[in-house]
Amino acid sequence: MSTPIHIGHHIGGKRVDDDARTAEVHDPARGVVTGRVALADAATVDRAVAAAHGAWPAWAATPPHVRARVLFRFRDLVERDLDRLAAVITAEHGKVLDDARGEVVRGLEVVEFACGAPSLLKGEYTGQVGRGVDAVSFRQPLGVVAAISPFNFPAMVPMWTFPVALACGNTVVLKPSEKDPSLALELADLLVEAGLPQGVLNVVNGDAEAVNRLLVHPDVEAVSFVGSTPVAEHVHRTASEAGKRVQALGGAKNHLVALPDADPAVVADAAIGAAYGSAGERCMAISVLVAVGEENADRLVSELRTRIDDLRIGPGDGEVDLGPLISAAHLDKVRGYLDTGVAEGAELVVDGRDSAPAGDGFFLGPCLLDRVTPEMRVYREEIFGPVLAVVRVDTAEEALRLVDTHEFGNGTAVFTRDGGAAQRFVTAVRAGMVGVNVPIPVPMAFHSFGGWKRSLFGDHHVHGPEGVRFFTRLKTATMRWPHSSQGAQLTFPSFS
Ligand code: NAD
Repeated sequence: MSTPIHIGHHIGGKRVDDDARTAEVHDPARGVVTGRVALADAATVDRAVAAAHGAWPAWAATPPHVRARVLFRFRDLVERDLDRLAAVITAEHGKVLDDARGEVVRGLEVVEFACGAPSLLKGEYTGQVGRGVDAVSFRQPLGVVAAISPFNFPAMVPMWTFPVALACGNTVVLKPSEKDPSLALELADLLVEAGLPQGVLNVVNGDAEAVNRLLVHPDVEAVSFVGSTPVAEHVHRTASEAGKRVQALGGAKNHLVALPDADPAVVADAAIGAAYGSAGERCMAISVLVAVGEENADRLVSELRTRIDDLRIGPGDGEVDLGPLISAAHLDKVRGYLDTGVAEGAELVVDGRDSAPAGDGFFLGPCLLDRVTPEMRVYREEIFGPVLAVVRVDTAEEALRLVDTHEFGNGTAVFTRDGGAAQRFVTAVRAGMVGVNVPIPVPMAFHSFGGWKRSLFGDHHVHGPEGVRFFTRLKTATMRWPHSSQGAQLTFPSFS
């Protein structure tokens, strides 16, 4: 067995390491420790913020098209290294290589969007708001911003925020998940290679201690967070109290509503991919299948069973469909939900404990719970594993009510051949992202991503136009160039 590598930080344009505390990083497919990640204390966070603060005036003064050139080069470097980066993700997260490549590509699309900085930051001009008076509105960067990300997308989620933040002229301190910290450091190295000036993007590794320092640091202007709902709520409250702009994206329980007219084979294919891809560790995973009508439900359960039998489980660098969960503790938690569901009266149609490969990896095969009801914990809580719950209802209205009354409102999907039914669902449903015959409706980079209810705390979604608004402040200048004195005016100014 090889010696675990040491994983530090990236501050001021180079790798640094000076923390006493560390955490283990695992290869989840084999259950072995492959690294030890430094856990930043407040002093290390302060160094990173100081580096970002020092770099900010020059970066903010760099013209947007020149900032964009760095992102263009970064884009090409990420593409050049796509396979290597995907392998880094699979080694620490466990997801299948193709899936890892996919998340890097979704991140790259945000870089491509951010390369449009000169257009994105164009202001508005009105001539002659009064005689000889013009007005211009434009957006300016905030300063140092913090980005805090979860384990499940070590490339895509950081890339939701830092490309847009940088394009808008901010400098960044990124705090990745301590469970798979290496990818963020790789991205920081590529930004240096692309020509990003020292200190413009810094990576501090760490846990709650580092996050809590970032949330109150006087030189941090804004916090963009993605993770579980309890932590998102804490981040939103604490950073808001400290006077910062905050967006905090939380957990999810995404429902796929299958109306009786939808083709069961199409629904089953969609549900299999959306429920079990990445072992269910996606905030946009489908974890509830709402089947409208008993006959429809019976047919869907039967179609799902057949497909589950064909899924291959194993290390993500092999020929498999799903890899392991992130940690032994998380595996225990997800397995526990299966017992809870059965005790609550659900029917465990497929028990993934039986199909988990032997060995020390953190594996659980796909699980299917039928006859789940809204009172059950397996329905109410986010499980974040390969567990699909089937809820049976009689009408489309009942299905909509279920989605609407759930505490989370990240994504949802309706499957139907009826355009009117789909339109009613899209209009009425209380969720931030909706799919029509699309099970994982993740918006493209030039739209914005975000949930409703307890899936997002704050006003702005991420990337796209909302990302630009989040990472900038609006300023409006009203300008006159008088040739001679026009006398004092004591009434409230109005232009005519
Ligand atoms: P997590 O909340 O445990 O951790 C997220 C980040 O917060 C990490 O960087 C972690 O170090 C930090 N953190 C953890 N506990 C903290 C605490 N007590 N105080 C301050 N900081 C703390 O989430 P996770 O397990 O890494 O990721 C999975 C969760 O993220 C799921 O709930 C998933 O739904 C959610 N998620 C949501 C979205 C979205 O877009 N809404 C996207 C991806 C993941």
